[in-house]
Order: sequence, then C-alpha cells, then structure tokens
Amino acid sequence: MFTVIIGAGLGGLSTAYHLEKEGLDYKIYEKDSKPGGLCKSEKVNGFTFDYTGHLLHFKTNYAKGLIFKFLEDNVEEHKRNSWIYSKGVYTRYPFQLNLYGLPPKVVKECLVGYIKSKIKRTKAESFEEWIYSNFGTGIAKHFMIPYNKKLWRYNLKKLTPEWTGRFVPDVKLEEVIEGAISDFKKNIGYNPIFFYPKNGGIESLAKALSSRVKRVNVNKKVTTIDLKNRIVEVSPEEKIHYDRLVSTIPLPELIQIIDPVPAKVKKCANDLKYTSVLNINFGINREKISDKHWVYVPEKDFIFYRIGFPMNFLQDLVPKGKSSIYTEISYKTDVRCQMPDTSRVIEGLLKMGIIKSKREVILKKTFDIKYAYVIYDKSHKVSVELIHNYLNKNKIYSVGRFGKWQYATMEDAILDGKEVVDKMTENSL
Ligand SMILES: Cc1cc2nc3c(=O)[nH]c(=O)nc-3n(C[C@H](O)[C@H](O)[C@H](O)COP(=O)(O)OP(=O)(O)OC[C@H]3O[C@@H](n4cnc5c(N)ncnc54)[C@H](O)[C@@H]3O)c2cc1C
Repeated sequence: MFTVIIGAGLGGLSTAYHLEKEGLDYKIYEKDSKPGGLCKSEKVNGFTFDYTGHLLHFKTNYAKGLIFKFLEDNVEEHKRNSWIYSKGVYTRYPFQLNLYGLPPKVVKECLVGYIKSKIKRTKAESFEEWIYSNFGTGIAKHFMIPYNKKLWRYNLKKLTPEWTGRFVPDVKLEEVIEGAISDFKKNIGYNPIFFYPKNGGIESLAKALSSRVKRVNVNKKVTTIDLKNRIVEVSPEEKIHYDRLVSTIPLPELIQIIDPVPAKVKKCANDLKYTSVLNINFGINREKISDKHWVYVPEKDFIFYRIGFPMNFLQDLVPKGKSSIYTEISYKTDVRCQMPDTSRVIEGLLKMGIIKSKREVILKKTFDIKYAYVIYDKSHKVSVELIHNYLNKNKIYSVGRFGKWQYATMEDAILDGKEVVDKMTENSL
C-alpha cells in the first residue's frame, strides 16, 4: 500500500512520521521550497518572524509528548500576558472577565447586559445570537461584535456558533463581577499557558519533525489527480501512482485539481468560504517597546484586529536593543479582491503609543495568508461532509486545518496525521 501525501505542513509531516513508524511506504510533495506550511519562520536582518503569532497549546498528552520529543529541550513555557485595547485603555484578556479599568459607564452597561442574559437565556441559531445570549448587550457592543466583525469580515448573523467551544471562553457571573471591580488576573481559555521554542521561531518545530521524515520532496506542486487511474501529476514533470492519497491542501483547491468531479461536489466546494489575513511585521529600533504578548484591538478606528510582540516569546527573535511587532489585518479575497490599506497600520501603532515615530520602524516584512480562517456559515457542515464522503470513497483523505476545513491548531494538524494513519492500519480506510 503506497501513500502519496500532498503538502508538508504539520499535517503532512505528521502523516509521514506516523506512516514511517508503521513501516508503511509514502512520498510527500510540497510546492514550497521548504517544509512547514503555516509553521514557518523567516529571518530578515537579524529579526525572525513567524507567519503571524504561532504558539503551542495542548488539549492532549499525546501531542504534547510528541512535540516535546521532537523539540527535545528547545521549548519553554510562558504564562499568557494578553490584553485588549479599547476606549483608550488596556484591559486584560478575556474582555468578559476583565472589565476593570474600562470607563464606569461601559462597565455598568456590560454588567447589566451580562446579568440580564443570565436571567433570560435565549436559544442561539447564529453566532451573533450566541454572543447576545452568552454575554449580553454591553459585552456584545463593546467587544464581541466589533472584534468578530473585524476578524471574520462576514455577517455574524450568517455564522454559526459551532466553532466557539474551545476558542471563546465562557465565564461565571461571580467571575465577571469580580473582574469588573478588581484587577482579577485569572487566566482562562484555551491558552492560559503556552509553549514556544527557545531557539529559532516556530519553524523549529517543523524542522524537528521533518528531520524525522525521509521522503519530503520540495518545489513539487501537485497539479492534477487522475481519480480513475489513481495517478498524481506533479510539476515539474512527474507522475506517480498511489493506493491512498492524504491531502493537506485547502479543500477547494483539492477539488479543483481532481479529474473528474461530480457537479454537486464542485458546487459544495464553491460554497466553502474563508477569510484571509495580511500579516505585516515590523522591526523597531528601540528595545522593550511592550511587555505584552499580544493585544486584541476591536475598534473600527484601527485597521488591525490584533497585534503582538515576538521578542516577548523569545528575546533572540530580535537583534540586541531592538523590538518587533506583528500585526494582523483580515480581508476577503473572494468578495471584491480588496487589499487592506497598510499605511493605516503605522498610523494605528502611533495612535496606540506603541511606536513614538515612523522613524523607529526599520524593517517591514509582510506575509499574505490567503487561507487563514474557515467561515462556519450555514452550508459549512453539509458541504464539508459531502465532499469528504466523496473523497473517502475514492481513497483520498483530506486532513489538517484547511484539508478538514476547520478552525484548528498546530496540535490538531499533528493529531490528524496520527488519526489518518491509525485508521489505515486498522484497515478501516
Ligand atoms: C492566522 C493564523 C494564526 C494561527 N495561530 C496559531 C497558534 O497560535 N497556535 C496554533 O497551534 N495554531 C495556529 N494556527 C493554526 C496552524 O497554523 C495550523 O493548524 C497548522 O499549521 C496547519 O497545518 P496543515 O499541515 O494542516 O496546513 P498547512 O500548514 O497550510 O500546510 C499545507 C501545505 O500544503 C502545501 N501545498 C498547498 N498546495 C499544494 C500543492 N498543490 N502541491 C503541493 N503542496 C501544496 C502548502 O505549501 C503547505 O506547506 C494559526 C493559523 C493561522 C492562519
């Protein structure tokens, strides 16, 4: 049984690693010049930038153990120090738990709304209704709605709340009150602590994993999948037969390269929506410009929805005496092909007082992340299921964040690789 893997991000590399452990034969094709996918870093003039903030957090001991094994002692634990900037002040993340420090009128609106939402909890069909039902009108108005509109760039009434579980922390009434009257400092959510390599950027993880995987072929783009003959065509010129195919490329792109594809599968692939992110990074000619890890910025006046400070994950990511900033601006590729106005980024950093003048910016490095967030609209579940059923019947298994078409982490990508190989060895695939 020979497996072809498309893509050498963490999902593809993990699939290869687990196949190799089982003594099964495979080959990976990666279109980029190096493995890693989104888990890559670039070094420019002594500054190291990840493809925006990429931090490790775990829900399973298996993935944690594996990643620690790969990184050996090159990993360090951090206590999250993340904030929100709105109304001209910094408050701790998550917003709902840390109203302390906001103008009293805002705190009152948030508390009253929250209490009312607990008295009369309504059923939520959409993500917007879910926000009102869980957090009330004040928290919705001052953070949840503006922040999520900025991040998703999609009508929140058309999003479903199915993805929220792990990623939007729920809180208790007593905690909301305590966090409104005092500097609460309770760290909750999916990443109250996180891990980051002690050397290199997050790419250290991809490097460590790919060093354990033998058959990675870079600069090799898969262009066509001939379903009937189970042949993959690769550019530059190569054809290879597979018994099973594991793909980690974005689901709509996978459907585009399969020949032939039934019309209903094509239609479902066309229905899949996503948000893109422009990640603009800066090198700053001053040390310690912030002590924070990252900051959420919900207000419309600022073009970015989040900014962060890589040197606070690891000092070596900047040269001595310097700092760095990552900024994240979301945009929609499929609507009007509108790219965000990047001059507003510097303007925002000045307005927040992060930089003192434009002259402090000594370097800019931009990553355009086309597929960043999968949009969970009403057709998401049905379309994804139909596409996967069709692929599985044809011995194609689509895994990873954009292969499964889900909101997922690096840990999930690694677990996906294990899961698909486990199923193969159990003979259920
Ligand atoms: C903005 C953002 C922030 C994130 N932050 C975090 C975080 O803090 N913590 C966390 O745990 N996770 C985070 N993630 C998620 C994490 O990056 C992913 O879950 C994980 O890296 C996905 O790995 P993957 O292998 O599924 O996909 P990818 O990394 O996308 O890998 C797919 C690979 O396929 C290759 N490819 C595509 N088309 C072809 C083709 N035709 N032929 C050959 N190769 C091809 C690509 O070049 C790529 O290398 C974040 C993601 C985003 C977008």
